[in-house]
Amino acid sequence: MDLTVAADRAALDKARDELGPGRIALVPTMGALHEGHRSLMRLAREHADHVVVSVFVNPLQFGPDEDFSRYPRTFDADLRVCEEEGVRVVFTPSADDMYLPDRQVEVSAGGMGGVVEGAFRPGHFDGVLTVVLKLFNLVRPDVAVFGQKDAQQLALIRRMVADLDVPVSIVGAPTVREPDGLALSSRNRYLSEADRRTALALSRALRAGAARGQTAGPAGILDAARAVLEEAARFDPPLLLDYLILADPATFAPAGDDHRGEAILAVAAKVGTTRLIDNVVLTL
Ligand code: AMP
Repeated sequence: MDLTVAADRAALDKARDELGPGRIALVPTMGALHEGHRSLMRLAREHADHVVVSVFVNPLQFGPDEDFSRYPRTFDADLRVCEEEGVRVVFTPSADDMYLPDRQVEVSAGGMGGVVEGAFRPGHFDGVLTVVLKLFNLVRPDVAVFGQKDAQQLALIRRMVADLDVPVSIVGAPTVREPDGLALSSRNRYLSEADRRTALALSRALRAGAARGQTAGPAGILDAARAVLEEAARFDPPLLLDYLILADPATFAPAGDDHRGEAILAVAAKVGTTRLIDNVVLTL
């Protein structure tokens, strides 16, 4: 079946009506689509009759010193990806179409939006939740799929849906990686060859922590991961660590020594001009 491109909300309404009966799954993205996004679209198809993908680089979730203006935009290639994955509608609104000039109201991510990743990106999760809620209201999906790669984002979207009674089921999707371990990201295309070698330390650190998780407690897991990151701080270019944390996957509060059950080992670092995040889920 054909792919419809809807560039504004009126076109989206029309395209949505034309889908006919059946469950709708939404996959929100910022474009520059890669295998990770494809895996979300495939999972979405397992949960619904029709898949809608949004491609919107959301200005609200970028800080003033972040990469909004140079974020990769590869629209034609993105459409081909959606077509290949059997997506029915691609919603590609402009910022002017999404945000009224006199807008006032935003979603607040609360305390959980200000810790870990949120401590380094003030306002980021408010911007994410605001656009996600708007996309839910515009597309009115039954289900929406988000990557575990952005673990705190996924946890906050689950929180928003629970706290605000949003009638959308949230599905989390596993992180897709390169064969050498690097988590796929639209920002990987910023990496030079040397940057990329340094960037591999993120996933290597997570694997080192996970390997210790069989026997060691939280302190041992963090020590093993930190040792890899400290070594990479001496590479050229160096890895500049923002944070390494073992956290409760639902709240992102630090997992204490008595923590049992699932925990998330999460890392963020800059390599050259690129900021990268990654995580793994462990069972303690
Ligand atoms: P983005 O376009 O970066 O905003 O990402 C759109 C969605 O794709 C989010 O739910 C991300 O968590 C997810 N995603 C990004 N990278 C990956 C990956 N390597 N594996 C799985 N999902 C991913």
